[in-house]
Amino acid sequence: MKAAQVSKPGGDFEIVEREIPDPDAGHVRIKVQACGICHSDVLTKEGYWPGIQYPRVPGHEVAGIIDELGAGVSEWKKGQRAGVGWHGGQDGTCLECRRGDFRNCRNLKICGISYDGGYQQYMVAPVEALVAIPETLSDVEAAPLLCAGLTTFNSLRHSGALPGDLVAVQGIGGLGHLGIQYANKFGYKVAAIGRGSENAALAQKLGASVYIDSNGTNAAEELQKLGGSQVILATAPSSKAMSTLIDGLAPNGKLIVVGATFDPIEVTPIQLISGSRAIQGWSTGTPADSEDTLHFSELTGVRPLIETYPLEKAAEAYARMMSGKAQFRVVLTM
Ligand SMILES: [Zn+2]
Ligand SMILES: [Zn+2]
Repeated sequence: MKAAQVSKPGGDFEIVEREIPDPDAGHVRIKVQACGICHSDVLTKEGYWPGIQYPRVPGHEVAGIIDELGAGVSEWKKGQRAGVGWHGGQDGTCLECRRGDFRNCRNLKICGISYDGGYQQYMVAPVEALVAIPETLSDVEAAPLLCAGLTTFNSLRHSGALPGDLVAVQGIGGLGHLGIQYANKFGYKVAAIGRGSENAALAQKLGASVYIDSNGTNAAEELQKLGGSQVILATAPSSKAMSTLIDGLAPNGKLIVVGATFDPIEVTPIQLISGSRAIQGWSTGTPADSEDTLHFSELTGVRPLIETYPLEKAAEAYARMMSGKAQFRVVLTM
């Protein structure tokens, strides 16, 4: 089989021939059909994740078909469609797991970091990482929903915003274009915040009722003119942009950070104290949350906008994602 691997931190993608792996007990082998490219794949590509071992195959937006079962696997069948997202398996024994908070497992395995992910024709995954994919979603549609979709869907549904509330989505990209759709389907009044006017029409088509161009205006002031935002979902990985939005929150409003970056967000205690505002980070969800995401998307017509590349062009596809110009999720097909 073919795999796109990285053999050292910062190394280039190499297309290599590998033996098709056999699943151990409690694992299945998936014939990968599609794998989304996520900005977090930079952690694998550049070696930013502590303890990552090489060579490594990235990819945590995997959609495919189960084609072999390891010993003891009874709840999944050969031929069944299944995917794997960021949540690559919990240990089941740490304090968070014992409390049922698998999303925050202290020893969480991450697909494409802890073990080889979906930039290959076959992969092996533990059953606790598997997501059942409904028939009406194609592989290339389902794949990006397993990280970008899940992250926006799950953070918004736990945000505390109620139908009719103003919810802003900062960034109209891989995460943001899905966040706008979910926010609209949840019944929020959606303000999309982008740089420049070129995405205004698209944002409105996706379900935003207001478009704010942060290049030409002070976005926080614009949000205050609308009464302040109950939630701001910050998807674009720019700490500077996130910092400027905090004053756009309504009393008791919350900035939810899902765009991953290493620079600090700047905020004063006074900004948070006045109006009891909060900043919260959010990381993906469990495989069951992913299934909720897929079912909700199936029900409401939320779909990712994608560009597809064959596996052999993984390097080009990754560069396209990194350029920030993809419309909007890049997906590898096998
Ligand atoms: Zn991701
Ligand atoms: Zn755990």
